Amino acid sequence: MTTRLRPGLPIFRLPQGASDVLYTPGYLALVTPGEADEVHSLLVGTGPASSPPLGRLAAELRRYAERAIGTWSRRLEAPFAPECLTVYLSNQCNLACPYCFSSVARQAGARGGHPAIIEEAMVHSTARLVARCCAEKMGPFHLVLHGGGEPTIHWDMVVRIVNATRAIADEAGVDWFGVIVTNGVVPETAASWMARHFNLVELSCDGPPEIQDRQRPLAGGGASSPYIEKTARTLREAGGRLTVRTTITPRTVERQAEIVAYLHETLGARQMRFEPVYRVRGGKQVAFQPDQAAWFVEHFLAAQREARARGCDLSWAGVRLDELHGPYCSILRDTLHLVPDGAATACFFYTGGRDSEGVPRPIGRWGSVAGEYMLDIERIGAHRRKAGEVPESCTDCLNILHCARECPEVCYATDAPEAQGAKTPAGVNRPGFRCLVNRRLAEAWIEEAAASGAPAWMCSATCRPTWTSTPKIRPRGPLL
Ligand code: SF4
Ligand code: SF4
Repeated sequence: MTTRLRPGLPIFRLPQGASDVLYTPGYLALVTPGEADEVHSLLVGTGPASSPPLGRLAAELRRYAERAIGTWSRRLEAPFAPECLTVYLSNQCNLACPYCFSSVARQAGARGGHPAIIEEAMVHSTARLVARCCAEKMGPFHLVLHGGGEPTIHWDMVVRIVNATRAIADEAGVDWFGVIVTNGVVPETAASWMARHFNLVELSCDGPPEIQDRQRPLAGGGASSPYIEKTARTLREAGGRLTVRTTITPRTVERQAEIVAYLHETLGARQMRFEPVYRVRGGKQVAFQPDQAAWFVEHFLAAQREARARGCDLSWAGVRLDELHGPYCSILRDTLHLVPDGAATACFFYTGGRDSEGVPRPIGRWGSVAGEYMLDIERIGAHRRKAGEVPESCTDCLNILHCARECPEVCYATDAPEAQGAKTPAGVNRPGFRCLVNRRLAEAWIEEAAASGAPAWMCSATCRPTWTSTPKIRPRGPLL
């Protein structure tokens, strides 16, 4: 069982066979249980070090843990300075995936509740704002075109936005990095253009045709897999960089390794990300239950081994050990997120037109008279602090500083702590599916890193290598 070694610091001890792993974000060491006991005593200040190396190990763990806490706190308090502009162009889509989290937005749009397409003037205004921040930070401007629907439906607008934001980045003297997230049902000419003009194309595909066509059918009915396969081929032939995002449902859990093989062999993908289907509030789709976490993890890890054997990378957004991160809120990732109804929102899950219940209020609005986009700095600050707070149930967990927790099924910015997650009959918070998966995966990866024996730092003959990395806090393209 994983234990925290010192109150107030994220330093953990994980038993691993006859040894123990000592872990804090960015640092781990494999030691004997006796050495772990001694490091524990040193950390809580109840004993002298029996050897200088053990004293140094305790000091290093403390240093890394304090640095991680300091970085995270500074990040929550820093002024919001977005480096990435994410735009949901519209809620229109040419597929009819039963699990779609923006289907409610589409229904609202169909009822005339919200404008269907974003105004380009807003995109230009926000792009200028983001480019100024990038110039101050001397970093690249990131554009992510996404959809609460399918962005390529508005093809001419995609081209214009790419050209306009490139020009804005140029004027600001910063590089431009463009990402488009697409369902792949696009004309060949568009696929070829995307490959040549975006730095990264993220294709959504749920696996071999039998899965893809059931989970992601065309809006009017019919198979989408032939389009996806053709688009992937066109992207490859035009020299594009491709990543694939796959939604795993309870029906496809045991097929994760097979899905990796298909994405690699047929689509030519080397980068993949799996995401369990979201439970949409008020939605009717089948979602995962907490007692399915171990089953899911077993098959996810098998898929990761399959990916590695093929020279591919299969990632998981819920826990990223090489980053300090919290829930998926765009403003925790220095991202300004625009939706078709003209709002800037802190939440990737809000696609415009959704019922307002449980969804954070907008953090910015288009001022049509001034012709400028205005951000609500106070609201942004409050949201960041609330969403970045560590829930009480997470304080003793080794994922404390790198976990999306149960977002988006639980909203850490709007839900009161007592409403976060399911309850036992006694009213105590019960970990949900995502929490249990995140914890098991992190433990598995940490144990694997300890056993792999990367760069060595030896504290005794029996002490095994230490692995270190620098947690990153920069956005790395779309996570969802
Ligand atoms: S949500 Fe679960 S896995 Fe994540 S930090 Fe909290 S307790 Fe740990
Ligand atoms: S914590 Fe809430 S606001 Fe943030 S991404 Fe999750 S659901 Fe959205």
